[in-house]
Amino acid sequence: MKVHTAPAVHITTLGCSKNQVDSEKAAAMLYEAGYRPADSAGRADVVMVNTCAFIEAARRESVETILEMEQARADGARLVVMGCMAQRYGAELEEALDEVDAVVGLDRYGELVGILDGMTGWTPVRIGPRRPAMDILELVNRPAPAFPYAYVKVAEGCDKTCAFCAIPLIRGPQRSRRPADIREEIELLCADGVSEIVLVAQDLAAYGRDIGAGSGSGGAIVDLLRFVSEVEGLARLRLLYLYPTEVRAALIEEMASNPKLAAYFDLSLQHASRRLLRSMRRPGSTDSHLNLIARVRAAEPEAALRSSFIVGYPGETEDDVEELADFLTAAELDWAGFFPYSPEEGTGAVGLAGRIDPGEVSVRVRELTRIQDEVTARRNFEQVGRTLTILIDQVEDGIPVGRSYREAPDIDGMICLDRGAPGEWVEAEVTGSYETDLVAEIRRFSRAGAVFPNGGRTA
Ligand code: SF4
Repeated sequence: MKVHTAPAVHITTLGCSKNQVDSEKAAAMLYEAGYRPADSAGRADVVMVNTCAFIEAARRESVETILEMEQARADGARLVVMGCMAQRYGAELEEALDEVDAVVGLDRYGELVGILDGMTGWTPVRIGPRRPAMDILELVNRPAPAFPYAYVKVAEGCDKTCAFCAIPLIRGPQRSRRPADIREEIELLCADGVSEIVLVAQDLAAYGRDIGAGSGSGGAIVDLLRFVSEVEGLARLRLLYLYPTEVRAALIEEMASNPKLAAYFDLSLQHASRRLLRSMRRPGSTDSHLNLIARVRAAEPEAALRSSFIVGYPGETEDDVEELADFLTAAELDWAGFFPYSPEEGTGAVGLAGRIDPGEVSVRVRELTRIQDEVTARRNFEQVGRTLTILIDQVEDGIPVGRSYREAPDIDGMICLDRGAPGEWVEAEVTGSYETDLVAEIRRFSRAGAVFPNGGRTA
């Protein structure tokens, strides 16, 4: 293919927010090299699918998405597969799918521009020298964001050995970014109009251990939070994925006292049964989980709590499910997700006896979801009458929708408002609740161009 105008690129992202960050960085790298964004696969010269390999269902969705690009390919577009599936099953994908022009694993993202140049024949007129191939983690430029929030990845990989999880096999050991680089990326985003940053990593609270960062008593994560909270224009900082035993007193204290930090604890608990957790090679039990939650609520009574759980892990008995159900009732988490166990090649859990019939797993997921839905609806109802500090994300069907410290983007509920525009910070009184969502009336706007100084807390 010989292209004389800049080729248009469309990226479809599957999986978690960490993939979202990688897609944004790949896009930034390509746009910097002169490529144009395409608003649909049908209008693109290069179609990229950023895949997820986390569980079987995610792999299936990734392959289906690749196959859905057939029409774009028939129209002349090139197809590039990236992400976790490309990393883990690169050779198999290339072998099995004729449709794919290039498979680019995570450790080759620095070569993406060269790969696309090669397949499109594009020789861009560049302003200044071309960047050399680089680690995706080092890239800090990205296109202007569409939303007033953005994800920032602070580390790649994971040093834990949870028996169900292939992430350490796919993404390797933890590699933390330098605090100065993270802050620089946040400064650029905030200069671009972002005012909420969501920090992500596979094991966020363990940030910095691999680079010897963190001199204070709270460890590297607390130092990092203080360092980046100083960024001008940043109003709310949110943390996703906290491994329970990594949530130490200093981190709880920082999250309860730093006005920019959302009082939002995303604890990755996975189960409540001690026996099953040990089989998963994870810490904790019903009692220790409840104890952790009590410590969080003692430090910040209004804290919002989220967690995720694996259901149908090998050997999970009805008693284990009952224990988890009782835990959910006692813990009163604001939000929780339930994921059917999926055997992952190469992981410790694959050979375990006691596999649960998939039909039975679905029944268990449904029942646990029903219990949690009631808790979530009750927690939401308790918000009625409160005044919350809300960032408006977008206008959907004419209704401005936003989030307070209680709602993370993409995974939790949202708040429907009576007026306002994307990017505005408002204080609003909650007037109604509908299962996962709230309705609120604005009482006060922040000054033009300013943000409330307490984005992470209540009004
Ligand atoms: S801490 Fe998370 S990413 Fe790391 S091995 Fe366990 S489940 Fe996987």
